[in-house]
Amino acid sequence: MNNEQRPVPAQVDVAIVGAGVAGCSIAYQLAKRGKSVAVFDQRGICSGASGRNGGITGTGSALHSDAGEAIHALTSENFGMLQDELARELGDDFSLLVTGGVDIATTEEQAEFLKAAVEVQQASEIDVEWLDGPQARDLIPALSEHVYGVEWKRNSGHLWPFQLVHALANGARHYNAAFHTHTSVQRVLASNGEATGIETERGTVEAGAVVIAANAWTRDLLPDLPDGAIVPSRGQILVTQPVGQILPMPFSTNYDKEYGRQTHSGQVLCGGFRRLDVDEGLGLFSEDVHPPAVGGIANCLASIFPKLAGLRVVRTWAGLMGFTADGLPMIGAYGENKGLFVAAGFNGGGFSYGPATGKAMAQLIANGRSTLDLGPFDPNRFARGGASWDNPFTAGERNNPKKLSLEA
Ligand SMILES: Cc1cc2nc3c(=O)[nH]c(=O)nc-3n(C[C@H](O)[C@H](O)[C@H](O)COP(=O)(O)OP(=O)(O)OC[C@H]3O[C@@H](n4cnc5c(N)ncnc54)[C@H](O)[C@@H]3O)c2cc1C
Repeated sequence: MNNEQRPVPAQVDVAIVGAGVAGCSIAYQLAKRGKSVAVFDQRGICSGASGRNGGITGTGSALHSDAGEAIHALTSENFGMLQDELARELGDDFSLLVTGGVDIATTEEQAEFLKAAVEVQQASEIDVEWLDGPQARDLIPALSEHVYGVEWKRNSGHLWPFQLVHALANGARHYNAAFHTHTSVQRVLASNGEATGIETERGTVEAGAVVIAANAWTRDLLPDLPDGAIVPSRGQILVTQPVGQILPMPFSTNYDKEYGRQTHSGQVLCGGFRRLDVDEGLGLFSEDVHPPAVGGIANCLASIFPKLAGLRVVRTWAGLMGFTADGLPMIGAYGENKGLFVAAGFNGGGFSYGPATGKAMAQLIANGRSTLDLGPFDPNRFARGGASWDNPFTAGERNNPKKLSLEA
């Protein structure tokens, strides 16, 4: 038994389910505000998607929908917190490198889409630029001659996810938050219209507020969420042997479906190709690697960066994301019972949201409102409107390979 696998407390101000980037950020921000906090995870800290991801972070500029401004505000707050407030408060740099990033067009259609996206963002004074093929190769000489161009985003970079999540957990412990790992939460308790606590495999905990930060597993604890509102989505990554500096910044391609970066150690990490996974990786709770997807990732890496073609792959892994029907996270108060909150469904971008989500949730729970606009992320939206999976960036890749209307 490790030291966090221990008897659960009888009573806390806030019980948080899930010790990923979302749960640990919320715990840190609430504990800092003087709340008594306990975090429960069925495995260890950072054992879900937060410990299995690419580590790419930055400001989202998804001005393709009504949510665009709120996404930009939340992710900008997030990126700022990583560089300044959190780094200072936690005494850690999370191995964050603010390098900028590129979205690579490998077809004419992708190039047209990215050029239009750049125009929309520039009109909102967002710091992005379209670079044609030769300009892109000036920026990243290893890029293939076949690349049409790139969207160059300056407000992004990459970090070591483990380092960030453990720094947040340690920060929360500093303010007396308790972590209960290897402690599965079985259900949320409620009576007379109020959440009253949780039932765990080690006993019952009374709580003034309950936060579900269980991402892919959210529906186990909120079974009244409409079918399809949030589904598990298996993502896979390969890592190569180390090489000299070749990728100065993270990249994504094919409407964000493939992505990668070079780590501090020189290893190149690349993920994506869910379309070669069983059912596109959707609906599975398995964290096994599916070789065809890894093969797709390897081919993608070699075709965009031909110099990487001969590298040995030294490791592969899989992790479960929580994909929502509209591609937006669920952050806020949930359902009919007062005191029940959810922060989940971060799709492929939890490290662009997690720390700021922690702050927003702590404000909401401690003060009754957040200074950040959480309107588009209302977790109750699916109950009102149904879950229609009309988000082609994250769903139905094989049949619907692109693209949201930029005019919407
Ligand atoms: C392969 C891959 C690559 C990715 N690449 C990136 C990237 O480059 N950049 C980026 O921003 N994002 C990326 N993501 C997405 C990112 O990892 C997630 O959005 C983020 O980690 C979600 O954090 P979370 O805290 O919400 O969930 P998680 O980290 O999954 O944490 C949820 C936790 O809840 C616990 N839990 C669930 N149910 C229960 C229960 N009943 N009782 C107790 N505990 C429970 C789980 O054990 C888990 O630890 C990637 C994801 C994957 C899988």
